[in-house]
Amino acid sequence: MTSGRSAKASKGSAKKTGASVKTSGASGRTVGAAVGPGKSGKPESHLAMVRRARRINRELAEVYPYAHPELDFRNPFELLVATVLSAQTTDLRVNQTTPALFAAYPTPEDMAAAVPEELEEVIRPTGFFRAKARSLIGLSAALRDNFGGEVPGRLADLVTLPGVGRKTANVVLGNAFGVPGITVDTHFGRLVRRWKWTEQEDPEKVEAEIAAIFPKSEWTMLSHRVVFHGRRICHARRPACGACPIAPLCPSYGEGETDPEKARKLLKYEMGGQPGQRLSPPPDYPGKPAPALGAG
Ligand code: SF4
Repeated sequence: MTSGRSAKASKGSAKKTGASVKTSGASGRTVGAAVGPGKSGKPESHLAMVRRARRINRELAEVYPYAHPELDFRNPFELLVATVLSAQTTDLRVNQTTPALFAAYPTPEDMAAAVPEELEEVIRPTGFFRAKARSLIGLSAALRDNFGGEVPGRLADLVTLPGVGRKTANVVLGNAFGVPGITVDTHFGRLVRRWKWTEQEDPEKVEAEIAAIFPKSEWTMLSHRVVFHGRRICHARRPACGACPIAPLCPSYGEGETDPEKARKLLKYEMGGQPGQRLSPPPDYPGKPAPALGAG
């Protein structure tokens, strides 16, 4: 999955930062101790952090060349609805719910006219179904009344829709319209703070600081790669540091399991041999499609 070139790059980073090289990670790359202050004990400069951040992005691009949005969708409306449903639940649970939802309500007009109790019943598996049903009916009515039944391709318009904030708007813009956007979800925020790219907690401030580090053309794919890494390796509670291909570039190495064998057992989705989140993943996805609701 990974090239010798990037393994060399990781070794180089470890050397440069004084990290001690220890063993091989999940991808066969070199894994070392954390990057930290230089020999002088001085904190990392902003320029050095930007270089390291861009290097992590390049490494992640090699680890996850198939990174993609993990919500199933066939058009902007479906992505918008799926993203609203994804609050406080997994993409897998949303993907298992939306086939029945879009069969019953394929267009904004259909969803705007839904009987709330019937819509709630369909989306119940995603949790918070009453509030989500209200948002879906409200945003569908706004699409019908204000945007000719089409999802608008501008941030300023998207955030006027009920239940749609910047995060949802950026997901839709980046993946249904090809407009670059940084999506700050729980994984993204956790990882960029672990990597010391920012200390901000507020998603809008995180978005602004990360946007200043990378060219616009990288924003959407960077978001996918970081979320992929958060879901597969750099977990919230027990990051698999001993199996992490970017360990030599990470100031938080050691926050999780460093034993390579134990760390490998923590890997999830395609890296852990488990099904991914999508029922219909892109053709280049190396993992297994997720099961439909009620199957397996
Ligand atoms: S798993 Fe996370 S915390 Fe651990 S080395 Fe990798 S990126 Fe850093």
